[in-house]
Amino acid sequence: MSSEAFVTLATNDGYALGALVVAQSLRKVGTQRKLVVMISKHVSNLIKQTLETSFDEVVLVEELDSQDSENLNLLRRPELGITFTKVNCWLLEKYSKCVFLDADILVLRNIDDLFEREEFSAAPDAGWPDCFNSGLFVYRPSKETFRKLVQFASQQHASFDGGDQGLLNGFFSNWRSSDVSRHIPFVYNVTANTFYSYVPAITRFHNDIRVVHFAGALKPWHLTYNPQNEQLSGNLDGQHDVQREFLLSWWKVMYERVWPQLSKFNQQSEQN
Ligand code: UDP
Ligand code: MN
Repeated sequence: MSSEAFVTLATNDGYALGALVVAQSLRKVGTQRKLVVMISKHVSNLIKQTLETSFDEVVLVEELDSQDSENLNLLRRPELGITFTKVNCWLLEKYSKCVFLDADILVLRNIDDLFEREEFSAAPDAGWPDCFNSGLFVYRPSKETFRKLVQFASQQHASFDGGDQGLLNGFFSNWRSSDVSRHIPFVYNVTANTFYSYVPAITRFHNDIRVVHFAGALKPWHLTYNPQNEQLSGNLDGQHDVQREFLLSWWKVMYERVWPQLSKFNQQSEQN
């Protein structure tokens, strides 16, 4: 069990704030697994120090980029080429099995049972359920798989959307027809689009949700939180009530569990 880990990724300070909430939300629900964050050289020292106290391991990785601006423009997410960096998670061979989580995820209930699943397991994507959402998946670290993935990624049009989701769906293309055990239930990776497309289901299954994934351009750390009145401000136009509720839950973890650590290191760096 000690050789199993949750793994996330942050190539800049914004996503690193997300990673800190991933770690604290996993600790809050009593995970028994190790926590690992992969970072690139662009994460600042202050945030890196905070990551080191929250995670069992901080691993510096090289950035990989799809350079596929055409498809990324179709997605309206030009920044997502860098998500190819995610494949570095296959290099963490000291762990026998891992669960990768995007940095824009909030864990609400214990998900350690995911480790009973095998590579490659993931939940369906709400936009195209024959594809999996690449924000959460179970995998086995292996340099050999990493090598094959990098080789696959170097081909032209390796990723149909220019991001890691297109890449991994291309590589693990048998997922859609595989055994149901490789299909993780949707409550383990509930993406924001569900809040608009199927509101009755959100009402019905609200209490079963284990993981909320803030997929899309609006990330929780783009907003501002006022702890006095527990209100959010920022570009919240058109956000559904349930979406606002989860954004608030993210900020409560940030304010109660991450902020104190950040201010501690901030004070230390001001004193030095
Ligand atoms: N990511 C990162 N830096 C970036 C963009 C993405 O580290 O500039 C990582 C981060 O772990 C993030 C994941 O790649 O959660 C996938 O990107 P994102 O969550 O923005 O994609 P979405 O879920 O919105 O499709
Ligand atoms: Mn995401």
